[in-house]
Amino acid sequence: MPYQSVNPYDGKVLQTFPELTDKQLEAALETAATCFETWRTLSFAKRAIIASKAAAVMRSRVDAFACLVTLEMGKLLNEARGEVMLSADIIDYYAQNAERFLAPEQLTPRSGEAQVENAPFGMLFGVQPWNFPYYQLARFAVPNLMAGNVVMVKHAGCVPQCAIAFEKLWLEAGAPAGAYTNLFISYDQVNRVIDDPRIKGVALTGSTGAGKSVAARAGQNLKKSTMELGGSDAFIVLEDADLDKTVEWAVWGKMNNMGQCCVAAKRLIVVEDLADRFLDKFRKALAALKPGNPMDETTTLGPLSTESALATLLAQVKRAIAKGATTVLGGKRIERPGFFMEPTILTDIGKDNPAYREEFFGPVALFFRVKNEDAAVALANDSEFGLGGSVFTRDIARGKRIASRIDTGMVFVNHPTWTTPDLPFGGIKNSGYGRELSSMGIQEFVNKKLVRVDSIDAPA
Ligand code: NAP
Repeated sequence: MPYQSVNPYDGKVLQTFPELTDKQLEAALETAATCFETWRTLSFAKRAIIASKAAAVMRSRVDAFACLVTLEMGKLLNEARGEVMLSADIIDYYAQNAERFLAPEQLTPRSGEAQVENAPFGMLFGVQPWNFPYYQLARFAVPNLMAGNVVMVKHAGCVPQCAIAFEKLWLEAGAPAGAYTNLFISYDQVNRVIDDPRIKGVALTGSTGAGKSVAARAGQNLKKSTMELGGSDAFIVLEDADLDKTVEWAVWGKMNNMGQCCVAAKRLIVVEDLADRFLDKFRKALAALKPGNPMDETTTLGPLSTESALATLLAQVKRAIAKGATTVLGGKRIERPGFFMEPTILTDIGKDNPAYREEFFGPVALFFRVKNEDAAVALANDSEFGLGGSVFTRDIARGKRIASRIDTGMVFVNHPTWTTPDLPFGGIKNSGYGRELSSMGIQEFVNKKLVRVDSIDAPA
């Protein structure tokens, strides 16, 4: 079933939701189109009142929102609470800053006046993934709503209750029907929504495959799109790194959200002087994680999101081993109900091993030993992906130099790649294009319109 809640902890089906009929979809498009005509005319202050209320509602019911995430995709409850609070922060951030970010820019032509105004595009369509069921929605929807656009969202099939909760949130906060619309629709209907002339822009966060399909469709329609796609981030450890703290961050960077983050530390690249000691500590830390109910605060190893996500990952690990990789830890399904996998570390991954180029979306770390910093940078850049990355060193200037040499959209020094409302998020290469969050994210779907005034007697 395309839209179905299944508890990843025990595999039990919780609830199933039908897809919209074409008639229902048309009604939703029409409601959004009507809404845009008034929403675009509201002042920033009026939109901000609604957004601030939405943020306050999320915070006041943090546990209820978080429990749905844990129930539908298995995120540890405390991490789910963190996601709810981060989403509320994003909402507040744009409520407070949108007007400033979109203020008209005065230009200084040789004569007369000129300014660039930021007008909303209109109706936007977003396709979103399950791994951060609210944060992903907030990242796309909120800057665009504050800019005066209205948004329609196809969320991932496995988190329908979160999808509904986020839509209800906006209605409860006072947004008119059609400002934020959740769509339970098929891939075929996704294509038709992209084709629909009322839709003016398209944003997808998800795998590179989905991105190619949706971006191609948007391109055929000459519609602007942003793509936030997969990654295989390097986590580089230099010989002068603080070993204990770096290992702690590596565990967090790899295992946060059970490794199901686009910017998870997927390739650990460690300079050989430190490699053995790093690997030993990292392996022990991963081996100590305790599987259990993600609702239970003492659980440190939750399930993966779905049976199919687990099956894909197990098949990738099997193929990697068949092509020469060595298993340092784990590699198997945990024999218990639900979609649990052992934390896994693979080494000896040659260039001809498909694992060398693939994204592993789960608790599987690829470990590489390199001679020096140049080799680390070369390996980090030898990837079709270009999302994030990090480098650990006590020498900040050296860390910054290395960051400049890494071909990705984001590089962090002494911290795994992560996200806050005020910093831009996005990648290059097969990790996509465009940016979300910060002052940049709100600029993607606005018309930079030049308004020029000159003397009627001015020369041509
Ligand atoms: P996914 O399978 O690509 O799904 C993402 C969304 O796209 C879902 O709503 C999915 O719907 C929809 N979709 C997939 N194929 C489609 C198609 N051909 N036509 C229309 N819609 C389509 O990705 P996922 O497994 O949910 O998420 C994991 C991937 O997202 C990873 O690669 C991860 O790195 C990436 N990601 C990137 C970022 C970023 O900011 N760069 C953030 C988070 C995740 P259904 O669920 O109904 O199939």
